[in-house]
This record gives sequence, structure tokens and C-alpha cells, in this order.
Amino acid sequence: MKILVINAGSSSLKYQLIDMETEQAIAKGGCERIGLPGSFLKHKGKAEKQIDADMPDHKVAIKLVLDALVNPEYGVISSMSEINAVGHRIVHSGEDFDKSVVVTDEVIEICKNNTELAPLHQPANLTGIFACQEVMPKGTPMVAVFDTAFHSTMPQKAYVFGIPYEAYKNFKIRRYGFHGSSHRFVSEEAIKYLGNENAKIVTCHLGNGSSISAIDGGKSVDTSMSFTPLGGVPMGTRSGDLDPAIVEFLCKKLNFTVEECVNYLNKKSGVSGVSGVSSDFRDLAKGAAEGNERCALALDIFTYSCRKYVGAYAAAMGGIDCLVFTAGIGENDAQTRLAIASNLEFMGVKIDEAKNARRVSGINDITGEGSRVKVLVIPTNEELIIARDTANLVG
Ligand code: ADP
Repeated sequence: MKILVINAGSSSLKYQLIDMETEQAIAKGGCERIGLPGSFLKHKGKAEKQIDADMPDHKVAIKLVLDALVNPEYGVISSMSEINAVGHRIVHSGEDFDKSVVVTDEVIEICKNNTELAPLHQPANLTGIFACQEVMPKGTPMVAVFDTAFHSTMPQKAYVFGIPYEAYKNFKIRRYGFHGSSHRFVSEEAIKYLGNENAKIVTCHLGNGSSISAIDGGKSVDTSMSFTPLGGVPMGTRSGDLDPAIVEFLCKKLNFTVEECVNYLNKKSGVSGVSGVSSDFRDLAKGAAEGNERCALALDIFTYSCRKYVGAYAAAMGGIDCLVFTAGIGENDAQTRLAIASNLEFMGVKIDEAKNARRVSGINDITGEGSRVKVLVIPTNEELIIARDTANLVG
């Protein structure tokens, strides 16, 4: 069975064609600058190919992707009918879905109704579905896999905020959490590795956007991102959690509208805003090594905040068996992993520095000698979660 995984953004569309026999991507790539001048498709199949072509909308982009997949020179299949189903990444399930679902008209309506909760991402994600409906053979089954769904198991005490209950009931203001497919993938891998279904795990998805989750017995019980992906730890350009009164204060000081202020917290903040140098941890490490104090401070703020979440979630679950690092920073930045774990010896977390510094394919067990808690680096694979759910639902 071959599953096409689509992740449609507002001006981009990433894809993977996954062969479920091997669970390997046989082709992958992405379209960029959709609806803008200079759009192009980068494809990797039998061969690598960049195709510069006009893409006024997602429909044209999907058509180009499908053409690339069946191309005799760099494609990997001989006809579109070899694609058994399509799995779409959809950011927000609201409170309507607690797992992936087969796409129907009703599902699309519900997704549209949740647009208010993710006004930038949800419409873009849906264009991926509409484009496939128009361009692919009629009746090709499609599945929606939600970023938020894995966190639907959180108890009320973790997701209801300390504001009037009516705000939750009437306006759906609550913690939803994001990066669900990633937290789910790495926690499932960790459970297999540990051979313990009941393990208490803290998963740190640390990338441009970062979130940390508490996972007890395979279920998400708390997570750091909340109503939007702006909450939680400070990130590349996002502030993370703040005293909400800061918004009014900033608006007055900088003569911002609320929208401008939220944009400032999303795009100008985080480690980029603190350092004034970059959102990329490689640049920050270089800056700090060269004596740039604000780069060092940005890294300190990040690792300190992550460490506090790990401690808080260990407390919330009454212990921790395993700490997992994943995503761009979590998988690649040994220094940051070490800094996060550095003051956690008191609760049994010890990293082996040599193992932490090495690169392996697959899971890197970096647990130190005498550590009560397993510490694992696990490459994430959100596309595989989407493909697996799609294959399971379309049978
Ligand atoms: P996204 O959230 O966009 O999916 P990623 O998970 O790919 O992001 O993470 C990208 C970030 O990972 C980069 O901005 C950079 O900070 C960090 N990163 C990637 N590679 C390295 C590396 N070798 N060392 C340190 N940080 C890295």
C-alpha cells in the first residue's frame, strides 16, 4: 500500500509518498512560493529534480507533485492509481475529534468551523484536501490527521485555564496543545524501546517551534503549548508563556494594536528577540562561544525554561521513567540537551556525555551510568504517523 502524505501551508506544500510495506518514503519534496512569483517544486524520487513553474494555487501545486511522482525519469510510480490513499496534516481538531478521521463533507465542515482557532493554518491545510479532490481520481480515500488530537486525553485540570468557565464553554478557550503527531511518534518509539507500556515519559520536541509533553501510559496528560502555538517555552521567534498583562503594557509603550502585539510576540521574540542575532541555535552557540552575552543569555533562558517543564511534568505524573529529545534542536544539539538535563540529577536524570556527542541513525540512548531515568534522542517522523493512521483507516 502506498500513502501520499500532504502537509499544506499557506504558500507551501510538503509531501511524502510512503510505501507501507517498508514504512519508508519512496519520494518526498515540497512546493514553495505557491501564489507568489518564483514558485518551484523540489522533488526527490528516483532522482532529484527542481521544477520551476507557475503555481497560482494549491491545485496546480498538487498537479505538479502528481506529475513528478509518475514521471518516468525521476518519479517512483507508473500511474496515480498506485496511490491508495492520501493523509492530510490538519492543525486543529478543536474538541470535535480525538483521533484521525476519514475525510467526508461533514468532516470538512467541522474543520472549517474550527478555523477561528487556527486562522492562518487551518484554511491552508484544507486547501490541500480541496486540491486533491479536484486533481486525483474520484473516490481516492483521504484522511485528516490532527496536530492537536493526541492531546485530547489531557484531563480537565490540565486544559481548563483559570479564567471564568464561560470563556471555555462559550469560546472554546482552553489548552489544546500542538506537535501531537511528533509527541505521539516519539513516545510510541520510547515505549517500544523501554518495553514498558505504562512508562511516564517527558517528550521534548525542540525545533523552530518547541513544545514539551507529559505522557503517562501512552497518553498525553499535559503539554506546554496551549491555546495557540505561542504558549509554553520560549522558541525561535515566539515568546512562550508570559504574564498576560504584558500585552496591554506593550501596546501602550509601542503604540501597538493587539494584533501587532501578538505578531511581535510570535515573530520578533523568543531566542531571536533576546539575542538580537538569530533564531537558529547554531548561530546562538557560535555567538555565545565568541563571547556574545545575549546569545548566551538566550540559550540559558531556553534551557532553563525547558528544564522547569521537565521538572513540572515529573511532579505532575508523580515520577518520570524516560526523557526524550526530538526535532531540529532535540536531535542535533548535544550542548542544549546537556544543558537542559544538567540540573536534573536530583531526580535521577544523568546523561552520558560521550553518547550524547555521538551521532547514530535511529534511537540514540544517551542514558548515563547510574541514571534512574532513560534519556533517549529519537528522530521524529510525523509523516509516518499520518501514513499509518491513513493506512489503518482506509484498510
Ligand atoms: P520546524 O519547527 O520548522 O520543523 P525543526 O524541527 O527542523 O523546525 O528545527 C529547526 C531548528 O533546529 C533550527 O532553527 C535550529 O535552531 C535547530 N538545529 C538544526 N540543526 C541543528 C544543529 N546541528 N545544531 C543545533 N541546532 C540545530
